[in-house]
Amino acid sequence: MDKLVSLCKRKGFIFQSSAIYGGVNGCWDFGPLGVELKRNLKDDWWYNFVQIRDDIVGLDASIIMHPDVWKASGHVDAFHDVVVDCTECKHRFREDHLEADKCPDCGGKLTEPMQFNSMLKTQLGVNEATAMETYLRPETCQSIFVNFKEVYSSCRTKVPFGIAQVGKAFRNEVNPRNFIFRSREFEQMEIEFFCKEEDEEEWFEKWQAEIWSWYLRLGLPEEKMRWFEHPKEALAHYSKRTVDVEYNFPFGWGELQGLANRGTFDLKAHSEASGKDLSFFDQQANERFVPTVLEPSAGADRATLAVLCAAYTEEEVKGEQRIVMKLAPKLAPTKAAILPLVKKDGIADIAKDLEKKLRRKFTTYYDQAGAIGRRYRRQDEVGTPFCICVDYDTKEDNTVTVRERDSMEQVRMPIDEVAAYIEPKVSFDHEA
Ligand code: ATP
Repeated sequence: MDKLVSLCKRKGFIFQSSAIYGGVNGCWDFGPLGVELKRNLKDDWWYNFVQIRDDIVGLDASIIMHPDVWKASGHVDAFHDVVVDCTECKHRFREDHLEADKCPDCGGKLTEPMQFNSMLKTQLGVNEATAMETYLRPETCQSIFVNFKEVYSSCRTKVPFGIAQVGKAFRNEVNPRNFIFRSREFEQMEIEFFCKEEDEEEWFEKWQAEIWSWYLRLGLPEEKMRWFEHPKEALAHYSKRTVDVEYNFPFGWGELQGLANRGTFDLKAHSEASGKDLSFFDQQANERFVPTVLEPSAGADRATLAVLCAAYTEEEVKGEQRIVMKLAPKLAPTKAAILPLVKKDGIADIAKDLEKKLRRKFTTYYDQAGAIGRRYRRQDEVGTPFCICVDYDTKEDNTVTVRERDSMEQVRMPIDEVAAYIEPKVSFDHEA
């Protein structure tokens, strides 16, 4: 994990937030390569779960909502962690994360367990006396429930259908830790899928299969993934059934995403609290009902971390160590690096020209500094799937060498064919 964290900082994937001021615990900044990686992952999710499906539509709702949303959803009363404080060093811990009944930092005595609401409060309005106190959303899904009727009546969607959203969520986590795994500001990728109660089990199974397959297609090894079934007595207040996909991170198994059957809890709770009917009218069957909700709820940061952990590889090549990020090409921040063998004799100009053309198709990087072998290694370390070398022969016959990252195999091809060769291999529908 330390090696990965250091590579992420050194290469511009992930930085600590406000580092020059000493940092903010639980907040992270995605640098030039990190933002490309995470955006590719979110776009791939959207491509798979919204774009190519005919039964899911998208939403991008506001982060700040009416405070009554959080009362009706149960968050004001029940979004609690049970915490204990150390009477000596005053550090606070989540009780369920402790292994012994003394402080893990100083060995001090702990207080009795207390309830701690992890929503972040904020104020809306310019006059303190009349400002509305509300929260930064702790999950993206409530805005989907609140917009349920607006969406289905504007899009003429019919149950079964889903609404998907990708966006920020905020939780005042007691112990943010394990790099970006547990942050206070993070991004969720959530779907609320509305179906008839009698179809819930069938859809639950279909969703399990879809979710599993998506992580495999991100390049996660199957032996590092498992399902965890929440025991009935430990289910959240809204849930009829919850399963999590867990990943075996270097620090142990951790939740990547949940899949919950939320029943009719949320639509009914918001109907009751707002006085607005959130049922669905099925014209064909001439029947009105409140749909059951299945919720595949994923974290973009946790999926990004899993992908980074799975990709990090140390190998020996001809007696030398090579660090290579074996990222799925569709996720790689840079798809192709264009490297002139030498700067002189017009070779750099051909390479620059090629890069200009290719960057309209996919992300590229131009590098003319240093020995070619070292330049390949630099690209390996950030997961660039293809390196294109322009050399003296290019001037003679208009061909270049394309080197593939994992196999390090090199093929010679006409310069005009490079874009068409690479493009399908880095697209979202390319099967790795
Ligand atoms: P945990 O038990 O790890 O605190 P949770 O069960 O509270 O997680 P959910 O409420 O089910 O998490 O949220 C759905 C998804 O959002 C999680 O599977 C995870 O990917 C992501 N997520 C939740 N909390 C965080 C966090 N603090 N930092 C990063 N991602 C998070």
